[in-house]
Amino acid sequence: MAGDIKAHPALLSIYASRLPGLHKRDGSYWAKCIFHSENTPSLNIGKDEHGQWVFHCFGCGAGGDTIAFVEKVDKISFAKAKKIVEQATGGNWEETKKKSDETFSKLELENTKELKRYDLKEYAKFEIALYESKEAKDWLFTERGIQYETARKLHFGYCPDISCLNKTPRSEIQDISGNGWVITPAIEKDQVVCIEARSMARKEFARKTGMNNKVLFGIDFISWDEPVYVVEGHFDQAIMIQAGFRSVSLSSSSQKLTPEQRDILMSASVIILAGDNDGGSGTAAMIKLWNELQERTYRLVWPKEMKDANETFLKTCNRDVEVFKELIENLTLNAYANPIPGVKSIQDILKHDDSEKAEDRPDRFRFGISAIDRMTNILPGSVIYISATQTSTGKTQFTLQETLQAARKNDEIVLNYQTEMQDTEIGEIVTANLLAKERNEICREDRIDAAKKLKDCCYYIGNNPNLNTANEVLDLIEAGVRRVGATVVVLDHIHFICRNEKDEIKAQSQAMQRIKRMSQRFMLKFFVVGQPRKPGQKTQGKPIDIYDAKGSESIVSDSDVVFYLHRDVIKNVTEETADNLSPEVQFRCMKGRNRGKGSAFCKLFFLGKIATFREVSNAEPPKTNSEFDF
Ligand SMILES: [Zn+2]
Repeated sequence: MAGDIKAHPALLSIYASRLPGLHKRDGSYWAKCIFHSENTPSLNIGKDEHGQWVFHCFGCGAGGDTIAFVEKVDKISFAKAKKIVEQATGGNWEETKKKSDETFSKLELENTKELKRYDLKEYAKFEIALYESKEAKDWLFTERGIQYETARKLHFGYCPDISCLNKTPRSEIQDISGNGWVITPAIEKDQVVCIEARSMARKEFARKTGMNNKVLFGIDFISWDEPVYVVEGHFDQAIMIQAGFRSVSLSSSSQKLTPEQRDILMSASVIILAGDNDGGSGTAAMIKLWNELQERTYRLVWPKEMKDANETFLKTCNRDVEVFKELIENLTLNAYANPIPGVKSIQDILKHDDSEKAEDRPDRFRFGISAIDRMTNILPGSVIYISATQTSTGKTQFTLQETLQAARKNDEIVLNYQTEMQDTEIGEIVTANLLAKERNEICREDRIDAAKKLKDCCYYIGNNPNLNTANEVLDLIEAGVRRVGATVVVLDHIHFICRNEKDEIKAQSQAMQRIKRMSQRFMLKFFVVGQPRKPGQKTQGKPIDIYDAKGSESIVSDSDVVFYLHRDVIKNVTEETADNLSPEVQFRCMKGRNRGKGSAFCKLFFLGKIATFREVSNAEPPKTNSEFDF
């Protein structure tokens, strides 16, 4: 596949990161020579007659291939230089993919229905309509700078009235439904898999229903021998393609790439993330993706004040395709010069967003149980510790219920690592919870019903019983996060993954530090479930202090939020309940950096048979013993 690595497009990043001021001029790359002192650039980077990247200085005569360049600049051996070159062109995506896929699988229960697709012949009527509409062609050119030839390449179409796509358009667009719509399709292997339309009257979009909503537009443009530019919006993509670059587009910054789309992207030689520069959630989304893909992936930053490709083309480049082309090549060199994803900058971006109230932020974790949702605001980059005063309180089921709800209702992508529960058991819990049906009465029809409720929801679950150290488990979780683009992680539970370590306490503390770093780097809401201490005579059945947590103190100190569940022990256990704990649950937020509006305490009711926690309204905190203070 990858061919000659000395010809690989990613090698340009090796030059750009070592030659300050490398730029493209007249079809060739130039920098001031670093092997001799000079004021005007005479070091040239280009391809030789075999298509391999070479450097040559017209001043001092230094020259050679890329490995020789790294040897000379980094002052290292040939073997080490060769390794650097190989790393720049390869990476471990295949390994990451394999690791993740062997462990995590999507929670689906049963297959649900197929999505609509059309072949290009059926779709052609929209393309003909564009060809025949002078108004639409003019709109594309005057508003966006997109020439008809480019629109044709991308199979853009037109429909005068949006009702050609969907019989009853949604209420917000009814007033402009007949004012003309430009159609932008997603095509995969000559099949139209998604049809989106943009109103010519104002910035409104509509999609044909029943088709795939999670497409990456333009994947057929990806090729292993050239960089691919990932932009946000089809008109930006068109601008890039018009200038001769390969490009794919996301519909918006909130669109998350599926594992399969990540593989397709990684089949390009280089990935340049060139989404919108909004300084907020759009930028954060690009940086998250950058951290996830890592290898051969770079981030292009648009010129100051410019939001995206389209604006840069229209304003900075005054609609001149050649000027735009050279600008993109130089912005790409800037991207190449900064090969490390900015872990720090994620935190800067989050700070930037502080103007927005934490509780209003779309990326905060939302609990289905409203009393808990009001306790604290959990933002990306947070670690949440969940434990209980004793075993069998249902913390696994609670965490499953709430993260599943977040995946279904709030588009979170959840990666759940389970150490003790089997897949079938999880399937049963999920079905019981979704349908409010007793666990021991579930049949195949129920699973199909539950699967329908899971439709489109991205919940990945897995476990590998052969791993012996916490680091191995966290490596696997990290691979999973990169692979599926998780926004929420559940580790259930931390004491189990540290149980085989020589020094368990130290292992827990190191694991927590790594979890904290991962949650920040990948902007995760990371739920760590912990075991209670073995109940002694003194503590059994009583609420405890957070520092009574089993094991390392760092579990609590490295968490941003700490939740505890408590259920009283029932004296007279009947055969019918078979549970020696009261169904009444005392739920506390013992620590929360970003306290919400609500109380830090609430009462829940645990319906074990249907694996469900429900809120008990108007609960007052119970009187606790004096040592319990928060
Ligand atoms: Zn020189």
